[in-house]
Amino acid sequence: MVVETTQSNTKKRLITNHFKDKLLYPDGLERERATYEDFHSVDDRAHNAFINCSGVGPENEECSELYNDAVWHYNNCRYTEALPCFTKMLEVFPSTEPLIFYYIRRCEYVSSIPLQPEEISYAAKLERRIAKPRLLKWLVPTGEFRGRCKWCGRYTNYVGPETPTFGAAYLNNCCRSCMRAYPMPSFKWDSPDGRAYSYYRGSFNDEAFYEEFESDYDPKPVSKA
Ligand SMILES: [Zn+2]
Repeated sequence: MVVETTQSNTKKRLITNHFKDKLLYPDGLERERATYEDFHSVDDRAHNAFINCSGVGPENEECSELYNDAVWHYNNCRYTEALPCFTKMLEVFPSTEPLIFYYIRRCEYVSSIPLQPEEISYAAKLERRIAKPRLLKWLVPTGEFRGRCKWCGRYTNYVGPETPTFGAAYLNNCCRSCMRAYPMPSFKWDSPDGRAYSYYRGSFNDEAFYEEFESDYDPKPVSKA
């Protein structure tokens, strides 16, 4: 499969099968990736990585607002709305580039895929629902929520990014159009540490994930998956 990409880096980034756990250990404790400790700290590390960027911090109101909007839109499959938040963040806080280049790529890619006629009406219905007052959202049934697959851009049934895919359950969490696993965007799992976890764990059974990861990073060692 051809890896679609807006390659924002010309030099590959180095990543290894270990990470520094600075959540409990300010000096950083070296831990192995794709372990229990990795799984349970990915989310916090993805968020903390921003706070540790130069010029960025919880006290910086502009950044906090951009960050909250970007994360919310991204996690809710709103690629077109998330994109300007990420690009603005990159413009104002260039130090965040290693953390956000991948979200920008996914948003640009999905936004570039034209919608099919039935998808246009579904998207319009979804926007009308979002615009409704909160009470009406509770009262009016809407059927199953669909989101755009981050790999192919087609609308598919929304499946939470945490849904396991072990063995025979593989189809539980894949796009009904391109059949790739983990089709929904996730700020946590699409972060550098989230992708590295998946890479070293061997979470995907398609080559495209590993090819794209190795085109972004120079992983040492390479995954055995
Ligand atoms: Zn897909």
